Formats: sequence, structure tokens, C-alpha cells
Amino acid sequence: MIVAIDGPAGTGKGTVSKLIAERLGFTYIDTGAMYRCITLKMLNNDIKLEDTDKIIEMFENTKIEFENSTDDDGKLVQKVFLDGEDVSKEIRTPRVTEYSSPYSALPLIREKLVDLQRKMAVGNNVVMEGRDITTVVFPNAELKIYLDATPEERANRRYKEYISKGIETTYEETLEAINKRDYTDMHKEVGALKIAEGAIVVDTTNLSIEEVYETLHKLIESKEQ
Ligand code: C5P
Repeated sequence: MIVAIDGPAGTGKGTVSKLIAERLGFTYIDTGAMYRCITLKMLNNDIKLEDTDKIIEMFENTKIEFENSTDDDGKLVQKVFLDGEDVSKEIRTPRVTEYSSPYSALPLIREKLVDLQRKMAVGNNVVMEGRDITTVVFPNAELKIYLDATPEERANRRYKEYISKGIETTYEETLEAINKRDYTDMHKEVGALKIAEGAIVVDTTNLSIEEVYETLHKLIESKEQ
């Protein structure tokens, strides 16, 4: 079974996907982390968006892997490895976050990663989240969800996350970054964020993460039956 989840940044896609993986035994695939890895590699190697040959060559020599473990409380911890190196923290910096949106707009990059994402799902019960999972990667997924929330609430969540990680920023800066990223994500030539046909929209603005999980859990159960 494939549970495909899309939505803008800060709607709780990652957190709820981890709960589905933890509690229902699904394999969690964080496609945003994959776009972030490619962005990081391009920034580190000074590869520009117009360097088509270099991008093709880079994909031939790039390995993105997820490693799952559980912490003492039984919570799923997912580490992201780029070419064998743990980049879990580095890919979440505001700089990589900012660049990941325009970099992921390049059709060549999307084509390569969509292909990889489809391969990763073969033979597993998968919960996959991103921006184009319900529209492009798995338009025929058994369950398609679009998570939404107001930009202010999403900025609030992201700001708290940054502060807890010791990343210096302000709420206003975070809100501005979210609005900018929403705009780019919704206006991509390929793989733009939109509500897929047949997707169920869940507004998480006033829901706790447990309430979001319960909503999705019920939908998964109804599909299983
Ligand atoms: O989900 P996350 O915020 O980690 O994703 C980082 C960026 O990667 C997004 O802003 C979006 O531009 C891009 N992305 C995408 N398609 C996906 C997942 C993420 O374009 N399926």
C-alpha cells in the first residue's frame, strides 16, 4: 500500500509520516530530504543550474540513503546519508532550505529523483511525502492526502523547531521564507505543489499531531478494508 502525502512546508507531513512508519510498520520516504541532498551537493561543488552535463555526471556518482533506528522512547529516527556521509543536520540549515526550492524546480533533477523514489517504493508498504507525490510520483496511490495549514501557523511551528535546534532566526524571517518557498513550490513548471484529483485535504492548523495521525490512521484502515 502506498500512502502519498503532499502539502506545503510546516504542515506536519514529516512528523505524521514518521508516526505512520513507527506504528503501522510502513517504510518512510522523505522526498524533501532527497532534494535537499542534491541541493547541498550542488552548493558544495559549485554546480550551477545551467551546468546540465555536470548535473548528469553528478547523478551517476550520487548515493542517497536513509537509515532508520528507534530512540529510547520507541520513536523513529531517520538519518540521511549522502555519498556515505551523514548529512541529516546539514540539509536542514536555512541556506539549504532556501536553495532547495529553486533547485528542485529543474526538470532534470526532478526526473532523476522521481525515478529513484518510484524504485525505493517497490515491494513495500510505503508512506512517502513531498510536493508531487500525489500528482506525479504515485498518482494512483491507494491513499492520497494533501496536508494544509495557514502560513502563520506553519511559520510558528518552523520557528520553534529552529530555535530548539539553536538556529538563529526570527518569526518574521521564518514567515517570509515560508511564503517565498510556497510561491516557488506552487509555480514550478514540473511537479508544482497542487491538490491532486482524488486527494483528501486535511487542514492541520488547529489539530495536534496526534489528531492528524488519528485522521490519517482511520483513512488508512478504511482503505485496507
Ligand atoms: O519537504 P521539504 O521542506 O524538506 O522539501 C524541501 C524542498 O524540496 C521543498 O521546498 C520543495 O521545493 C522541494 N521538494 C520538491 N518535491 C518534493 C519534495 C520536496 O520539489 N517531492
